[in-house]
Amino acid sequence: MTPSDQIRVLLPLPLAEPFTYRTGEAGPLVPGDIVEVPIGNRVSLGVVWDGNPEPLPPAKVKAVLRRCDAPPISPALRKLVDWVAGYTLNPTGAVLKMCLPEPRALVEPPPMRQILRPGKAIEMRTSAQRDRVLQIAAERPGLSPTELAEAAAVSVAVVRKLVELGALQADQVPAFRPPPPPDWRRDGRALNATQAEAAAGLRAAVAARDFSVTLLEGVTGAGKTEVYYEAVAEALKAGRQVLVLLPEIALTQQSLDRFEQRFGAPAWAWHSEMAEGRRAATLRAIGHGEAKVVIGARSALFLPYADLGLVVVDEEHDASYKQEEGVIYNARDMAVVRAKLEGIAVILASATPSLESLHNVSRRRYAHAVLPERHGAATLPRIDIVDLRKERLPAQRFISAPLQTAIRETVENGEQAMLFLNRRGYAPLTLCGACGHRLQCPNCAAWLVEHKRHGRLQCHHCGHQQRLPDACPSCGAEDRFKACGPGVERLAEEAAMLFAEARLAVMASDTANSPQQIGEMLTRMENREIDILVGTQIVAKGHHFPLLTLVGVIDADLGLAGGDPRAAERTHQLLTQVSGRAGRADHPGRVLLQSFLPEHPVIAALSRHDNAGFIAAEMAERQRAGMPPFGRLAAIILSGTDQAQVQQAARDLARAAPRGPGLTVLGPAPAPLHYLRGRFRERLLLKAAREIDVPNVLREWISSIKLPSAVKRAVDVDPYSFL
Ligand code: ADP
Ligand code: ZN
Repeated sequence: MTPSDQIRVLLPLPLAEPFTYRTGEAGPLVPGDIVEVPIGNRVSLGVVWDGNPEPLPPAKVKAVLRRCDAPPISPALRKLVDWVAGYTLNPTGAVLKMCLPEPRALVEPPPMRQILRPGKAIEMRTSAQRDRVLQIAAERPGLSPTELAEAAAVSVAVVRKLVELGALQADQVPAFRPPPPPDWRRDGRALNATQAEAAAGLRAAVAARDFSVTLLEGVTGAGKTEVYYEAVAEALKAGRQVLVLLPEIALTQQSLDRFEQRFGAPAWAWHSEMAEGRRAATLRAIGHGEAKVVIGARSALFLPYADLGLVVVDEEHDASYKQEEGVIYNARDMAVVRAKLEGIAVILASATPSLESLHNVSRRRYAHAVLPERHGAATLPRIDIVDLRKERLPAQRFISAPLQTAIRETVENGEQAMLFLNRRGYAPLTLCGACGHRLQCPNCAAWLVEHKRHGRLQCHHCGHQQRLPDACPSCGAEDRFKACGPGVERLAEEAAMLFAEARLAVMASDTANSPQQIGEMLTRMENREIDILVGTQIVAKGHHFPLLTLVGVIDADLGLAGGDPRAAERTHQLLTQVSGRAGRADHPGRVLLQSFLPEHPVIAALSRHDNAGFIAAEMAERQRAGMPPFGRLAAIILSGTDQAQVQQAARDLARAAPRGPGLTVLGPAPAPLHYLRGRFRERLLLKAAREIDVPNVLREWISSIKLPSAVKRAVDVDPYSFL
């Protein structure tokens, strides 16, 4: 063997570099081919990677076992993997793993399932059960044995026996039949003039078959979805695939339903709650180009699309696009990178675009399509502030008198109200009334949150759960625990007491998290089976409630505290979004914001509907402070079980910090969550001028210091979480 048969193969494992293999019997191979290779004493899938390896002595190099019969990983996706690994400082193989989340799905034949139809007429003992089965099989051929047994109310054994006897014929068919392709010829709604103009621009961007980014900005209800569907139709017309990213699984069902109505056929969903078989089938359909439209969560971005023609990032400002574990990345930003590498259009849609995207518009990097008004007669809701300094609330009560009045009026009018509080559970803090001891998570520097529904206390950071103890662990007092502050469950309790006649429902990510559960709740809202909906941010996003006319924000100040440089921006976005739920179609809406800080720029801007004024002020402030989008940030978080060791490592790292013009390193400092999952945490923050290559600076910095192996390091480029 000559070294020239040696190739690089990247494995979907947390390895920084591809390994070297010989082509062996498998050749010829080209980059992108999916292959099976030996690794240790196992067999793994891998992807033939670009570039030539440093030649190794042939005896040291193992041979590729086989080339798999699978669509290759495209050059654009390979470049994306390398780029994301470089940008986020993660091993290349860990990024490849995100492209192949079900590695075998692409290479193995699709799973089959058995379906039944009537067989030949045979001599056999008849029975009422058997007759019923045969009759149903004749009426509804194509049921599986279990389905047929269920339909005939018999055991599966009865059905299997009939198969064995030949009275039923069993056929093997693919377990997942792809739905028909969406029909781009179908007309959408007749667009108004501004919508039509925006849609024409987006269609042209797709037809150009070149990289472009368009920020599609429009108030809630302006018709952004209708407009980007036009771009979707354009991509489908060209026979290409479309990816629509959503920030929350919770939004998928509504989005899928709406898509099907528009295009007459379903899109494919992709999210973490899908069953494994469904995921594998979807990945296969994506890789083979059968899945024309995928509606999914951020993880759908890295999948191996056969021919991607358009990416839509809906609610582009949403922080849920940031993946905070493993490979830490922002799917909105990486969608732009992918679009660039693929040479395609990307649409970023939002009612409250991120400052990053708005800044790119002003730098003329992104096109801007604006829908300034709600479609048709719908107007934006009126927003009033309830000044909690004047409207004093009784202890442990959270619904002020003006809000109570508004709710009563709304419900009496036969309309719906929503109470928004971005806090799950019953109460965020439980303390002992005798000694003041606060119930804390044993693994985290965080209070335990009471969840009455489940009769437990929960840590919202590590998932720790326990019963409420019988006695105070500190002073031993019994039955003296006091719940402090509200969560949605407690708010619902108060609402139920105040409005005994009203029908109430609570929606939070722990009470409704599957698309089906959310779908049911939305249907109940639409059918007017609910008068008052109490919810966390899960109700704030995207949903369309035709009869909702009142939104009460229980604690408008909640997101403003803390060290997050985006706190004001985020609160503004969230409250704009939740306010946008009120009043659509012919029912004008109203919003009440309960606040202790009515003069705060965010709260004041909301009540004046002064979006532009808020953005301008916030931009100026960020520019002054050199914060994103005018500067760059990266965080390094060190953690370990030995606090002194972590602190020492953080000091060592700080001493080696990069210096130079445009670079500042803040910290080390204990993280706000300085103890998490049993580990002590120290943070360092790198602030850099825009033109600085931050990943490169980070790479040099961290490679200059060898950390003790017990200290774990996480690098977060463009951080969104400052906990
Ligand atoms: P957004 O995504 O901006 O919140 P949507 O696309 O969801 O707005 O539109 C809001 C509502 O208005 C939807 O019910 C939508 O069907 C309706 N709508 C928007 N544009 C039109 C139009 N041109 N004709 C009829 N209905 C429209
Ligand atoms: Zn915890």
